[in-house]
Amino acid sequence: MNRELYASLVFELSAPGRKGYFLPDSGIPADGALDGIPSGLLREKDPQLPECDELTVVRHYNNMSTNNFGVDTGFYPLGSCTMKYNPKINEEIASHPAFSGLHPYTPACASQGALEAYWHLQKALCEIGGMAEFTLNPFAGAHGELTGLMVIRRYHESRGDTGRRKVIVPDSAHGTNPASAAVAGLEIVEVKSRPDGTVDVDDLRPLLDESVAAVMMTNPNTLGIFEKNIPEIARLVHEAGALMYYDGANLNPMLGVARPGDMGFDVMHINLHKTFSTPHGGGGPGSGPVGVRKGLEQFLPSPRVVSRQVNRDDIPVGEHERYALEYGPESLGSVSATLGNFAVQLRALSYILTLGAEGLMEAGPLATLNANYVKEKLKADYLLPIEGVCKHEFVFDGLRDKSTGVTTLNVAKRLLDHGYHAPTIYFPLLFHESLMIEPTETESRETLDKFVEVMRSIAREARETPEVVINAPLNPPVTHPDDTEAALHPILTYDELLNGKV
Ligand SMILES: *Cc1c(COP(=O)(O)O)cnc(C)c1O
Repeated sequence: MNRELYASLVFELSAPGRKGYFLPDSGIPADGALDGIPSGLLREKDPQLPECDELTVVRHYNNMSTNNFGVDTGFYPLGSCTMKYNPKINEEIASHPAFSGLHPYTPACASQGALEAYWHLQKALCEIGGMAEFTLNPFAGAHGELTGLMVIRRYHESRGDTGRRKVIVPDSAHGTNPASAAVAGLEIVEVKSRPDGTVDVDDLRPLLDESVAAVMMTNPNTLGIFEKNIPEIARLVHEAGALMYYDGANLNPMLGVARPGDMGFDVMHINLHKTFSTPHGGGGPGSGPVGVRKGLEQFLPSPRVVSRQVNRDDIPVGEHERYALEYGPESLGSVSATLGNFAVQLRALSYILTLGAEGLMEAGPLATLNANYVKEKLKADYLLPIEGVCKHEFVFDGLRDKSTGVTTLNVAKRLLDHGYHAPTIYFPLLFHESLMIEPTETESRETLDKFVEVMRSIAREARETPEVVINAPLNPPVTHPDDTEAALHPILTYDELLNGKV
């Protein structure tokens, strides 16, 4: 076992008999406490618990926490994932005992306040997306895509139009788009991008016929380029009887600028954990609400939270609104055991209300300004395959000077030595050396300037002392893990570690 790679486990710090607590004598004899418990339910051996003093435990957890990296420790320009700052007031709201103590199956009559918050978020997202209704039930972006495609399938079936089995996806799409279409039992057809990074309408036109259920698009797309031809594409798609699906995982650049519903999209999802600020490093937690235009709301998953006028003798009509759960007969059914990830929803509502309409309207333009600022400052050193104004993010195709032998992976690892999280690399798949940068609107000019300086210094190193970049990183606790081995044979338990799988 390579000790250098692993911080000690708390079990390894354990010493027999060492304690960090003093419990008073319960007064119940050890055997007596077990009276009445069937012997089959009693453990045969004592549990294997670490025995440590308090100081050891405090140091252990504090040291582990500093081996981590997050937006709260440094700049995190991860393209396609929107690692923006997560305001702490969101955490306070989400962890308020009135919310956090609520059991997920509390009946509607005893959770009116929570349902009211939920309903307001649905309405806010309708306003932001230009949609008629939203469900907050899906647990992630990909889960939202699946739900949205199920709505679309339901729509076609409701009209007796059952031959539509294809989903058209651009070659620049996020990997979850084709994956979700496949899970929804649909066939994927790829449409090409033009050299300017936008969908090729001439390539799309002949693909549109009565076998197509939907076209999935991301706008701005994963290259950070605004798809200018959406109105024409929407017209062609609708003429062919198919629906337009909008991947709104990163809605940042659109906030306050444009709405998918106004562009002709019928169904969309939003990643609350990206655009509306929930810490989501390491794969969670998430929430992927799905919005639909008027005429599709009856197909949304059940239950839905609705607000209805109370019409009872003891309450004057129109004075009280009550929030209720609705199970519609035409609904596609349930996509989650509960109403979704409530803590993430609360953070999003808190973020939206804190910024207000005015603040939200500034987020998109600022995110775009920051991305263009960094792009323009770096394009002398890094290869910019698509010139022009980008939106919230942009993609370099590695270093401009291709003679140094330094790859995008090397640049990303060298950034770790400087205390930055690496950008997204080798995605999108359109270029060999993709390096995708998304600064977000929450970073200051000083932070961006420092990042630019470091990126330039790495380009200089690549020319002058390439081996320094190629051998990076030197500073992090783990420096050169074997990526392939880690993917093929991950070590997931302590036993595997001890038994020399390393
Ligand atoms: C992140 C992302 C998704 C998937 O969202 P998850 O919550 O990770 O499932 C889909 N599309 C785009 C463009 C994304 O950036």
